[in-house]
Amino acid sequence: MPKFSDSDGLTWGFTPGERARTRAGVERLKQIRSERAAMDAEEAALLAGLAGIAVDQIGRMPSNSDCAFPLRSMATELGLALKEPPRAMQGRMERASELVAKFPATHAALAGGRITDRHARAVADAGADISEPGARAAYETAVLALAEKTTPYRIKELAKQVADTHQPTAIIDRHEKARADRGAFVEDLPDGMAMLGLIGPAVRIHAAYDRLTGCGRAVRRDRRALIRELDGAEPGPEDPAHVKYLDDRHLAQLRSDIALDLLLTGTPTGHDLDQHITATVEITIPVETLAGLDDGPALLAGYGPIDPDTARRLAGHAPGWERLFLNPDTGALLTVDHYAPSAAQRRFLHARDRSCRVPGCTTRAKHCDIDHTIPYSTGGITNVENLNCVCEGHHMMKHHAPWGFTNLGHGRIRISSPCGFDYTEGPPLLFPALGPPAPF
Ligand SMILES: [Zn+2]
Repeated sequence: MPKFSDSDGLTWGFTPGERARTRAGVERLKQIRSERAAMDAEEAALLAGLAGIAVDQIGRMPSNSDCAFPLRSMATELGLALKEPPRAMQGRMERASELVAKFPATHAALAGGRITDRHARAVADAGADISEPGARAAYETAVLALAEKTTPYRIKELAKQVADTHQPTAIIDRHEKARADRGAFVEDLPDGMAMLGLIGPAVRIHAAYDRLTGCGRAVRRDRRALIRELDGAEPGPEDPAHVKYLDDRHLAQLRSDIALDLLLTGTPTGHDLDQHITATVEITIPVETLAGLDDGPALLAGYGPIDPDTARRLAGHAPGWERLFLNPDTGALLTVDHYAPSAAQRRFLHARDRSCRVPGCTTRAKHCDIDHTIPYSTGGITNVENLNCVCEGHHMMKHHAPWGFTNLGHGRIRISSPCGFDYTEGPPLLFPALGPPAPF
């Protein structure tokens, strides 16, 4: 057995047999993913065809009859056969019809295994409101080029940005109209539970959620400090000696409990919380929009485009902000001008990376560690070309396992897996180059 605990500091690694088995497993999984995408495309075509039969039936009905009936009946037919709720089947038929009829290139990319069903859904959802066929086709071409290169999580946000540039109405007018639809709703759930939903401007909703997350994290920090104080040791949830002190609510439960405390009593009672926890949102505004030279959208991190009026108002109240320089051809972030290097470098990295640099990891950059790709101890410098946002778990993995990270410049990174696969990934594009403008 090879040893990994000598001078390189690694404590484990692959034997040649394990490496070969892992490589074969990865290749087979990629093949399965591609085959599944092709089957998803076939399923969408079938569902759209069956929905088409119902639409033909509606066309033959007398004008005063209930037109919802054929589609509902087809959904029930399929639901019974596939053991799925008819309502869910109807939703899937409608989505499939939309994909096949309005986004044929996306459907073809799914059939070819170049994107997954989640990518296809993100493309169709973001483009659903583009009614003009030429504009929709231009949107689809631009967004598909990005979708084939990135994760479904990232394409969801990028697709909203790309769709925004192909909308015939400016975001400022659409936001004004959409604000009228804000509201609150309750939906009853089984087993004595219910869901409370709020619809409001994205900036306020994300800020509220961020505050709940901050309060939840504070409760967990307080809990760990209390255990340390009582036992004089680092707390571990698996240690039975700590169980009597453990408030084992996870973050999602704490968000719900604290939100209800705030709504029902005005303060988060029952928790000794730091009252200074405030919400933060990260917004990126093009300089032309900030200066009022145009009414293009700004970007809310974790959401996508927001209206320029809201962004300008928030910029006016922000305690500090950074100027970002983008490559005009690719939209990639080039640099930030600043005075205080370390804090500014951190802000640059948060803006450039937006989340952990391991593809698919969704930990927000502000909750990540900042990692020296070439370790400081071996001569790596503290420069953004040698720094990446990496979440705690992936940071530990990088240092304790044979993973290789190489910075290729301009935020591009190559990740080499222990069994020999290389993955090259650019930072997420803030304002991607979107090709020719919409034809109107
Ligand atoms: Zn991560």
